[in-house]
Amino acid sequence: MTIKVGVLGAAGRMGRAVCAAVEGDPETELAVRVDRVAGDGIETSLDAVTRAGAEVVVDFTVHEAALANLHWCAANGVHAVVGTTGFSAEEIADLSARFDASTANAVIAPNFAIGAVLLMHLAAIAAPWFETGEIIELHHDKKVDAPSGTAMLTAQRMAEASSEWGSDPTTKTVVDGARGGVGPGGIHMHAVRMRGMVAHEEVILGTTGQTLTIRHDSYDRTSFMPGVLLAVKQVADRPGLTTSLDPLLGI
Ligand code: NAD
Repeated sequence: MTIKVGVLGAAGRMGRAVCAAVEGDPETELAVRVDRVAGDGIETSLDAVTRAGAEVVVDFTVHEAALANLHWCAANGVHAVVGTTGFSAEEIADLSARFDASTANAVIAPNFAIGAVLLMHLAAIAAPWFETGEIIELHHDKKVDAPSGTAMLTAQRMAEASSEWGSDPTTKTVVDGARGGVGPGGIHMHAVRMRGMVAHEEVILGTTGQTLTIRHDSYDRTSFMPGVLLAVKQVADRPGLTTSLDPLLGI
């Protein structure tokens, strides 16, 4: 039995990659593609999801559309896997209540790259054993925000795992920003913007006579697909709302 999947935002960059991944997996079947604008085999209404008998929808759209889509999924008993970013804490709380009351479940994950999720987990495990830790995130030269959301989340997880970070010895700054920005827990964060790169993150931890470097590299959008497919296959067995990939990975 294959899982029938509807892809929302199917004409977008991530949506197209999801369609290809769903079509390429023997356990999943692409039942319907939906986007804002009709196109080659693309529908514009969520009614098409019902007509196609999709059991799970995958949403990579924009924040407001994803919110409306999630409300529809909870009301119509269709499981949702959502990669769209930008939900507030209040929206997550409201969605949690809606999915608790629904026959459908949802997985919303700000990062579907399994390696990046593991990097954050490993950095938090390592944090208490090191006195110094800094984060370098490296992205393509079109990224407008810095540091990346994943780097911020990594610093937050490290700061939650340890409060014993050494102080910055710098007393003279020759070039403004040479020590990067200061994130959660006082952890220094450095953002590199580089043509040719995609999305990369490195955590360096140091203690007496040793350093530990944990690094993850995303080379293209396919890096998110194993995580998306994992969520598509598990969402029916995860009651209510799940807000990260961690429990799906057993961490
Ligand atoms: P994109 O602009 O290429 O695609 C978005 C698509 O959504 C477009 O085709 C647009 O027409 C469509 N859309 C807009 N409103 C819609 C609606 N009401 N119904 C259906 N379709 C609608 O963007 P992208 O690069 O594919 O990214 C999409 C989202 O995924 C962003 O929020 C981005 O931050 C997020 N993202 C998340 C991860 C993750 O791992 N969670 C990874 C990459 C991107």
